Amino acid sequence: MIEVPEGVRAVARSLGDVPAYVYDLPALDRHAAAVRAVTEGVELHYAVKANPDAEILRTLAPHLDGLEVSSGGEFAHATAVLPDLPVSFGGPGKIEAELALAPSAYRWHVESPAELRRLTGPAEVLLRVNLGVPVAGAALAMGGGATPFGMDGEGVAECLRLLATGPGAEGPAAHRPAPHGAGVHDPGRRGPVRLRGVHAHLASGLAAPALLELAEAVLAYGRGLGLAEFNLGGGMAVDYADPDARFDWAEYGRGLRDLARPGETLRIEPGRAMTAYCGWYLTRVIDVKRVHGERFAVLSGGTHHLRTPVTKGHDQPFAVLGGATKTAGTVEIPQIAPTTLVGRLCTPKDVFARRVPAALEPGDVVAFAMAGAYAWNISHHDFLMHPKPSFHYLG
Ligand SMILES: *Cc1c(COP(=O)(O)O)cnc(C)c1O
Repeated sequence: MIEVPEGVRAVARSLGDVPAYVYDLPALDRHAAAVRAVTEGVELHYAVKANPDAEILRTLAPHLDGLEVSSGGEFAHATAVLPDLPVSFGGPGKIEAELALAPSAYRWHVESPAELRRLTGPAEVLLRVNLGVPVAGAALAMGGGATPFGMDGEGVAECLRLLATGPGAEGPAAHRPAPHGAGVHDPGRRGPVRLRGVHAHLASGLAAPALLELAEAVLAYGRGLGLAEFNLGGGMAVDYADPDARFDWAEYGRGLRDLARPGETLRIEPGRAMTAYCGWYLTRVIDVKRVHGERFAVLSGGTHHLRTPVTKGHDQPFAVLGGATKTAGTVEIPQIAPTTLVGRLCTPKDVFARRVPAALEPGDVVAFAMAGAYAWNISHHDFLMHPKPSFHYLG
């Protein structure tokens, strides 16, 4: 059962043909505060790529220790919106203009030995490791095998050699203040590149016990290198098939505190599980029809606004609300029947949900839930040149 906040219903009541996004900021604030409370002792960064909306960043900020960005664009945006929050910078394939930001980053996540050679210090680096550990059950695997993300043991060993031999580069044991001078190479211009620890974002869509197992493996690996700082990534599960099932943050927080040893810094960087639940995408039913025995509801919006169900291959959960403009001449008496909810793009891929029980008629508003992460900002807005949705912020 999906509970639709009154503020979302109010937007639905006045919704015309143009779809709308509604972000429930008070709900986001409560959620972030709850996550913060049960993960005490662990640094909490937010992965901006899940949803970089400025209001969302501002709502999250009081509960965060920092932000994680994966591009120069995200860095510029995040530091403009929240100039005071430390920023971890990651992502494969960093271009020169991005490498130049290393001195401004709180932590720099090195993805390869070649990147480390190109890096301009001063920089506080974590080596992104791709451990050969099983990531069974994950929705997406960024590690545990051959992927372009991070480094295996050979890559890490090469980085350690570079850091040990580079003029001015400090190895893991060094905790003295930053000396003037050189980085890994080019002693003339660069500041030190200091190895702080390891970073791992191995999989997404995992429950707390599975993420804790991965954390244990990452900690063991980093300790083996003599390191004491660990970024354990994001990937906390979000279950679109069951909007009420939530990642067990309390169990995860407890587990991380149990794993940590005195003097160690543990950091996490969740994205999806922070913001997914605060977003709603509202769109009207334009047409209901039966084709070859199957009932379709065609909506005024489409997956060019909310790509999530296409990329993840799920039925996006929704509630049906009465709209402002019920069309005259209803084509059929609405009764609950298996209905496929589609947008109005000219492609059979434009599907929000398949054969789900629903009673819909033209003019109804469909409020898609769990549209606050990897939703608007990953969608192909310009396809077919339909109008963009309006944005509303509760709170
Ligand atoms: C995407 C990403 C995250 C966030 O992942 P979620 O599944 O949204 O929690 C964290 N760290 C890195 C490096 C990422 O690429």
